[in-house]
Amino acid sequence: MNKLLLGCIADDFTGATDLANNLVRAGMRTLQTIGVPEGPLHAEADAVVVALKSRTVPAADAVQQSLAALRWLQAQGVQQVYFKYCSTFDSTPAGNIGPVTDALLDALHGAGQGFTIACPAFPENKRTVFKGHLFAGDVLLNESGMQNHPLTPMTDANLVRVLQQQTTRKVGLVSYEVVAQGPQAITRRLQALQAEGVQIAVLDAISNEDLMRIGPALRGMALVTAGSGIAIGLPQNWQASGALAPGQASDLLPPFEGLGAVVSGSCSVATNAQVLAFKRAGRPAFAIDPVAVAAGDDVVGSALCWAEPLLPGGPVLVYATAASQAVQAVQAQLGVAEAGALVERTLAAIASGLIGRGVRRLVVAGGETSGAVVQALGVRQMAIGAQIDPGVPWTWARTALGPGIHLALKSGNFGSEDFFLKTFEAP
Ligand code: ADP
Repeated sequence: MNKLLLGCIADDFTGATDLANNLVRAGMRTLQTIGVPEGPLHAEADAVVVALKSRTVPAADAVQQSLAALRWLQAQGVQQVYFKYCSTFDSTPAGNIGPVTDALLDALHGAGQGFTIACPAFPENKRTVFKGHLFAGDVLLNESGMQNHPLTPMTDANLVRVLQQQTTRKVGLVSYEVVAQGPQAITRRLQALQAEGVQIAVLDAISNEDLMRIGPALRGMALVTAGSGIAIGLPQNWQASGALAPGQASDLLPPFEGLGAVVSGSCSVATNAQVLAFKRAGRPAFAIDPVAVAAGDDVVGSALCWAEPLLPGGPVLVYATAASQAVQAVQAQLGVAEAGALVERTLAAIASGLIGRGVRRLVVAGGETSGAVVQALGVRQMAIGAQIDPGVPWTWARTALGPGIHLALKSGNFGSEDFFLKTFEAP
């Protein structure tokens, strides 16, 4: 078994996949785990991303979960720890970015000690930081719609100010003039800030080149805190030291095999268009009626009977995806939470049944739907492979049902219109 180099703690599931995707693209073999694993990893890897659900839970819970992840990563002997949060810095004055950062620094360096960075920049996804201010596209974070987020309204784009409210440590800034000068200048500025008593340095970054300039300055830093973008600049450090072979294949998924299917529970605009494109291409599709499920009809059995003879002819789609009016009508009849849970349970049972009928390439649409399917299949670890569309890689996972399968988990608004078709084209 090789040595794990980088251990990541992600504050949500799709964010974890986004980070893993960037690490694979930059040359690290990466596994994602769902929650803190109970034992060792199933496969060799250079990096591991532990996916938590800690973004919007009470800060004390987030700290506890993150420390449990840290202990497991330390037991695996990782050389560097990466705390991953959202590229829109989703948090409130109560946390959870500050309290988790403090707890991780305390655990790694001793109470009140240590030094780290904070940088949510991900220029490819239009998240940039300039003079400490976070931009989403062309506008400041607090004018981007994020000021109205139901759980984590972001009303200030100044990250130094935002983070300072959440942490007992002093927050400083490495501004763009310094970042543009390259790794040595960044290192010198980080050292100067440390000498001034700063313990968390917000970094400006507006391009991928900036991420590559920042990477070497983070070499040997015990804890890095960032969005998924900073990960693009880190693998070069291990490539330079010889711990990672430059140009090594990082997508180590087994070849595709078996039958293909899509299970869709997302009702986003993008997913509705993807369902339509699949049907328009003449592919078979089965619609789930939540009201029939609630009435006790054997919808799972019907869907599986329908799918079984069609599967050898190519991928099939089972979907609850509907336009917002139809969803609202169902929600009015069944209740919002009950309708959601009922559809998730149904699609998860169908996914399990499809695996039992020989499906080995499964695409799942919807964040919550993906969570329900992954849980029903008993997936605990996923190897991350090639990117299908930005933020959505193919993965491979062992299931509790027996076989290993290829899984693509697509959150609502991700993926091009032909996503359900192109995922099954020859890789
Ligand atoms: P997204 O990533 O697009 O937000 P999710 O899977 O996270 O997708 O959320 C979609 C929610 O809508 C799930 O709880 C799902 O069960 C529910 N849902 C799907 N189809 C319907 C429908 N036809 N009527 C009511 N609720 C539905």
